[in-house]
Amino acid sequence: MKTKPYAVIGLGRFGTSIAKRLFEAGQEVLGIDIDETKAEDAELFLSHTVVADATDERALTSVGILNFDCVIVAIGNNMQSSILTVMILKDLGVKKIIAKALGKHHGQVLDKIGANLIIYPERDMGERVANQLLSPNMLNYIELSNEYNIEEIMIPSKMAEKSLKELDIRAKYKVSVIAIVRDGEILVSPSPKKIIHRGDLLVIIGNKESLAKFSRLE
Ligand code: ATP
Ligand code: ATP
Ligand code: CA
Repeated sequence: MKTKPYAVIGLGRFGTSIAKRLFEAGQEVLGIDIDETKAEDAELFLSHTVVADATDERALTSVGILNFDCVIVAIGNNMQSSILTVMILKDLGVKKIIAKALGKHHGQVLDKIGANLIIYPERDMGERVANQLLSPNMLNYIELSNEYNIEEIMIPSKMAEKSLKELDIRAKYKVSVIAIVRDGEILVSPSPKKIIHRGDLLVIIGNKESLAKFSRLE
């Protein structure tokens, strides 16, 4: 039987925003919620929604949960339901389970019972906001590891109208520019001769400390 990409269990704000985005990107998404009103509301922007209690193994089996490659458990406040749901999905043999955790202990339990990826929305969003406050020129970032990031940084004004080579960025700041974003266009792998202009964004890879220093330049 052909598998389907995504099922989202729990259509609160978190689950809804995941489901909506996947659906907008052209993916087939099944939304599941125990609350009929939540399921009905989601019908407006999802291809399929069902009302089911995810802590009931038979209910999950009957919606064909095993046909999904990836199941996202977006139940948060009810920790017991979240844990029970992940346990059942794991027992049934679902390959990829992504689950939202409220906090550290909830996350540890989800990890123990075999969730493949655990998301801490409040903690992660808080960190992002703080990082943005600490580095105002940093607009966006991807965490590669504990040590390394890729960051999108507004160029410091004193760097405008100079080339990467003149600025000697790699040697001076120990970071590498992998792309320049200019007027919405992306110039990938810029040559050392490339002149950067006021308003350009640099996509830079490097260790977090070096990036933090770079993003605080005036
Ligand atoms: P969010 O923070 O994402 O807005 P919320 O705070 O509104 O969510 P949660 O308790 O985190 O509420 O639950 C998210 C959704 O999960 C709710 O719509 C709820 O009806 C649904 N839900 C809770 N328990 C189950 C269950 N056993 N089976 C299916 N859906 C459930
Ligand atoms: P390196 O040994 O640092 O790789 P290089 O000797 O190969 O540099 P060039 O490629 O001409 O010489 O670059 C000269 C300098 O220009 C580099 O040392 C670096 O500081 C800077 N530079 C060039 N391209 C980039 C880039 N994409 N990101 C950051 N700095 C760059
Ligand atoms: Ca909540």
